[in-house]
Amino acid sequence: MAEKWVYFFGGGRAEGSAKMRELLGGKGANLAEMSRLGISVPSGFTITTEVCMRFMNTGGKYPQGLRKEVGTALKKVENIMGIRFGDPQNPLLFSVRSGARTSMPGMMETVLNIGLTESTIPGLVSKSGNERFVYDAYRRLIMMYCDVVMEKAAGIEPKEGQGIRQQLEREMRKMKDAKGAQFDTDLDASDLKKLVGIFKKKVKQVLKKDFPDDVNDQLWGAIAAVFRSWNGRRAVAYRKIEGIPDDWGTAVNVQTMVFGNMGENSATGVAFTRDPATGENRFYGEFLVNAQGEDVVAGIRTPQAINKVSKTKASMHLPSLEELMPKPYHQLAKIRAELEKHYRDMQDIEFTIQDGKLFMLQTRTGKRNGAAAIRMAVEMCKEGLISKKEAILRVKPEQLDELLHPLLDPKSEKAAERLAEGLPAGPGGAVGQIVFTADEAQDWAKKGKEVILVRDETSPEDVHGMRAARAILTAKGGMTSHAALVARGWGKCCIVGCGGLHISASKKLVSVDGKKLREGDWISLNGTKGVVYKDKLPLLPADPAKNVYYKKLMAWADNRRKLGIRTNADNPQDAKTARSFGAEGIGLCRTEHMFFGPDRLTAMRQMILADDTAGRKKALKKLLPLQRRDFTGIFKAMDGLPVTIRTLDPPLHEFLPNDKASQMEMAKQMNVTVDAIKAKVQSLHELNPMLGHRGCRLGITYPEITAMQVQAIIEAACKVAKQGVKVYPEIMIPLVGTEPELENQRQVAVETAEAVMKKQGVRVKYLVGTMIEIPRAALMADRIAEVAEFFSFGTNDLTQMTFGYSRDDAGKFLPDYLAKKILPSEPFQTLDQEGVGQLVVMGIERGRKSRPNLKVGICGEHGGDPDSIGFCHRVGMNYVSCSPFRVPIARLAAAQAAVANG
Ligand code: ADP
Ligand code: MG
Ligand code: MG
Repeated sequence: MAEKWVYFFGGGRAEGSAKMRELLGGKGANLAEMSRLGISVPSGFTITTEVCMRFMNTGGKYPQGLRKEVGTALKKVENIMGIRFGDPQNPLLFSVRSGARTSMPGMMETVLNIGLTESTIPGLVSKSGNERFVYDAYRRLIMMYCDVVMEKAAGIEPKEGQGIRQQLEREMRKMKDAKGAQFDTDLDASDLKKLVGIFKKKVKQVLKKDFPDDVNDQLWGAIAAVFRSWNGRRAVAYRKIEGIPDDWGTAVNVQTMVFGNMGENSATGVAFTRDPATGENRFYGEFLVNAQGEDVVAGIRTPQAINKVSKTKASMHLPSLEELMPKPYHQLAKIRAELEKHYRDMQDIEFTIQDGKLFMLQTRTGKRNGAAAIRMAVEMCKEGLISKKEAILRVKPEQLDELLHPLLDPKSEKAAERLAEGLPAGPGGAVGQIVFTADEAQDWAKKGKEVILVRDETSPEDVHGMRAARAILTAKGGMTSHAALVARGWGKCCIVGCGGLHISASKKLVSVDGKKLREGDWISLNGTKGVVYKDKLPLLPADPAKNVYYKKLMAWADNRRKLGIRTNADNPQDAKTARSFGAEGIGLCRTEHMFFGPDRLTAMRQMILADDTAGRKKALKKLLPLQRRDFTGIFKAMDGLPVTIRTLDPPLHEFLPNDKASQMEMAKQMNVTVDAIKAKVQSLHELNPMLGHRGCRLGITYPEITAMQVQAIIEAACKVAKQGVKVYPEIMIPLVGTEPELENQRQVAVETAEAVMKKQGVRVKYLVGTMIEIPRAALMADRIAEVAEFFSFGTNDLTQMTFGYSRDDAGKFLPDYLAKKILPSEPFQTLDQEGVGQLVVMGIERGRKSRPNLKVGICGEHGGDPDSIGFCHRVGMNYVSCSPFRVPIARLAAAQAAVANG
């Protein structure tokens, strides 16, 4: 069957549907769907993403038959509209719009008002009886077309500030200034007519080409340019950040124009079916009278609210759409309900009102921040719109991170100097130093500085800097502006429309209320309220448990999940935090961190410097009470829950200083010669420390180290047990590759533990198990499980040794591997399920063969990665362990895995 390249929509029918987003892109698929629902959508057609990929791969050729299919679809549109494209009496105009599978807001191009030429302009003037409108449309066409088609798609890269669009904008500014006009709408028909002449001259002068005056040239020029915008710099950068594959391509939507710029009875706007900032079930949106296209998002004028609940401080005094145009508003409100019911999710919609008549131009699932996502999921479930399972799947685990983010300390907030107020576009608190450009934001952040990007408004060119910044602050724009949209997607603190700020990016200066702030000055933002403060205020950790929707969703999630969630913690404070986030035990307590404290490093070093067992034992005796205290605190914090403690893992040289100055200081402190220290450092030096004398190999050479650690663990356990604490220590031996290694360490542990308990006169239940982090251990898991009472996969080392990538050196080449697509993802972040995963599966299967109820967990970085957690669920682990702040994320990810896998 011949392939179909073009899909028509309009007049209550459509060839495509919402299910076809891969082929038609999100925009095209949903325009088709709305058309099918009988919602008034201007008729048009979608050229598929497949055409885009062919076009890109053949250096700009269209597949055979495309032009014919476009011709047929165009005829259909003309028949529905009853007017013709290029007709001098009564011309049909088109918009040419990009639309990828997932929305990439503002990243690709759209050209409006295609079809205006010297010959069609007079017809449209007499038909509309509105010369101003026609020339306003024409000047927009020239601006967009030159920018998108004649410059960007042609590969021209103008100097900063010299883009054709900016040059034309300056001409328009000049004209407005000469007239004393404030807004675009203050220019009348004759001004715009003159402006169009100026534009055309400028275009010829800068781009050395005439603006095309043939409707078909315009149409095909725009189509090609929109396809090319898939590989535009901004789009490529955005895809990289969002992890969107390069081979998806964009569709092109050619759609009949409707005009929001036809006068006072026309408007254009953007709305959300629920409040995307809070999740509240209320219709939220903004619009502009007598405007077109991106005017609302670009923040050119202060947008007005569509209804009372959408009013902000800036739009308070302006009438709402409901007040101004009640009929189309009520139609819109009806469509809102219909779309939510149909899509069963919050929609982000675009509409235009042409002379009182409402048209829908887009609907898509709206971006939302974490708190809003949670509230919507819970409320939609309660409203009966979605099931509990769907509610669990609705929230991206990573989004919970936002609720765990810090807030400005309210006490110091009260006392702080308030600089300005804007719209709360992204929640939470943030502090940082002011920077004025995206590039600076990136540079400063690379140097480890915390920055806040301060701009009049942001554009898609700024995304890299917005990403790097702690927060974003803009002087212009509303809740649907670019900055707000992007920040919302990332859950980043953001304040927009902060009208009190006067920003001069060239002078690197913001003045507000007579005060001046410069680059590098500290400010603090409360993104939940929209308030900007002077100076760096303290931040407080978040308390998600106060959020009732969060609590509800997590209760549902906990109910579903099969995996236990533990945490990696090596001090009582982290243990408490993790527990408050829902951790059900400690999966990895690293003991090495405990030796770095100033009160113990010396004893540790004495142990290392000792020449014989007696000397080591003497030093270890000093460490014993300190370790015991550590464990006592942790056991108390985890009362009733298991605590897995790993015996010493890193090579000993890590505890000795490398540079001369520190070696001298150490010598003085310890009353030994520098040479003695140097000699020790020498003797501990290894060519491959990662494969060297570490893990259980240390304990085998120096059993007294393992013995001291086990003594501390069991003494602490006995002590707290006597106080009524329920304690379940699990002693974990690292880096085991063979059964005798584990057997050796197990004997030391058991002997020590039994002796301690006998002396203490209490018994505690304890286990001895092992890490599975050496490939051989996975292979020999059946034998190892005869000795081990539990397994914990150390997937950091397991990844390192399976790939043969040194964790300490892989940073040099992994970025290349990712860029060249040799690896699909960073294997130390996301578990390599098909490779390393095989060893995990094998380890579990073989381990459980000899010990059917063997408890299995994971304690590498992967334990907090949602994707990897899904894998852990599928292979039947008992628990995952992750850092305290990832515990809620892991709980939800585990529930999602359970829901998705039945
Ligand atoms: P984006 O994907 O960046 O949102 P769109 O293709 O949605 O780009 O176009 C941007 C804006 O142009 C829309 O919000 C809408 O206001 C306007 N627009 C697009 N097509 C039409 C049309 N057929 N009639 C009127 N306005 C349109
Ligand atoms: Mg849009
Ligand atoms: Mg390890």
